[in-house]
Amino acid sequence: MYDHRKLGRELGIFETDPLIGGGLPFWLPAGAAIRHALEEYVRELERKAGYQHVYSPVLAKRELYERSCHWQHYRDGMYPPMTVGSEAGDPGGGEQMVLRPSLCPHHAVMYRSRAHSYRDLPLRMAELGGQYRSELSGVLGGLTRVRGMQLNDAHIFCTLDQAAAEASMALAMIGQAHRALGVEPARYRLSLASASAKYVGSPQMWDRATAMLRDVLAGEGLDYDTEEGEAAFYGPKIDVQAADSAEREASIATVQIDFYQPERFALDYTGSDGARHRPVMVHRSIVGSIERAVAHLIDTTGGAFPPWLAPLQLVALPITDTEVPQAEELVRAAIDQGLRAEVSSDGSLGARIRAHRLVPYQAVIGASEAAAGEVSIRLRGGRKLPPMTVGAALAQIGRQVRASTVELWN
Ligand SMILES: [Zn+2]
Repeated sequence: MYDHRKLGRELGIFETDPLIGGGLPFWLPAGAAIRHALEEYVRELERKAGYQHVYSPVLAKRELYERSCHWQHYRDGMYPPMTVGSEAGDPGGGEQMVLRPSLCPHHAVMYRSRAHSYRDLPLRMAELGGQYRSELSGVLGGLTRVRGMQLNDAHIFCTLDQAAAEASMALAMIGQAHRALGVEPARYRLSLASASAKYVGSPQMWDRATAMLRDVLAGEGLDYDTEEGEAAFYGPKIDVQAADSAEREASIATVQIDFYQPERFALDYTGSDGARHRPVMVHRSIVGSIERAVAHLIDTTGGAFPPWLAPLQLVALPITDTEVPQAEELVRAAIDQGLRAEVSSDGSLGARIRAHRLVPYQAVIGASEAAAGEVSIRLRGGRKLPPMTVGAALAQIGRQVRASTVELWN
């Protein structure tokens, strides 16, 4: 295991600054390239699975979270309210605004903003959006203990009969995304309530949701552990757990079945019988927060990202200055094709290869390659391929990248 807190900075992925504040990492160009690729991958996966993307504000009135019960049950993790819009001399006026601790209440309100019939369901609403947590200063670090994060979130509004199938589909998407990323979950966890005041809703509601999640796990053939006290305050959940560099476990994906929030927000749809019915909300995240996902990848790969995610995918290495024009031409063609590529021409070839050892594709161009319009591709890890035309090399690299796989060359 590597330590993303150190390596992530060395690789130019992220940094923090006391003037911005602890727990508020910023993404440097290499990190921004990874984040962009990861977000696009997730959006594409969701589009193909029938999700619709939305945007919602990161701030809302305190009343929204009172309605969702986050205010009553999750307040320790929330930022204090800001009073805005009050006149001087009227400190009691204005509105109390809160940075959101979760996207769920926004999506419930967005569902409610339109009338729905059973024909609209399942309605799969997805957003990659910011959420904020008021962590103590002492525990902040790297990309895993942060005060703000970008969550890959979605809420599926569906009928009771559809909920289990939607949860299964979400688990299948999680598996697919993790294969593309090369992520090996440590275990699946069924997170249940404990005998504590922090949970809401009726025992019948919890039993029904728990039984559904057990069926979903059994249907997918997944082994899992059951843990009390790890549920969301409104319902049980399946958590996909991964280990970090300190061998601590964290949830990197989740699927939840929720009967409570639809009740709180009085959500409904018109059934085939013409009557109003309450939908079920399935909450799911396939890669969790972008911060945690990238931290996990750095921890486990040491920066050797899958080709589709690598900040720099192709480096062109001219052996002497004479081949620089051919190297520049190759990089131009690669960029036009949508790849992230650059030329490296300063220093010995050996030093340049070492400096770019994490880049999936290194294209070496010597006099013979330049004369023939060819390149000698060296894959990350050292495997050398026979010289091939520039067109053939770029076509194959493009196929590998578009396939969103961890494989370098098939
Ligand atoms: Zn949610």
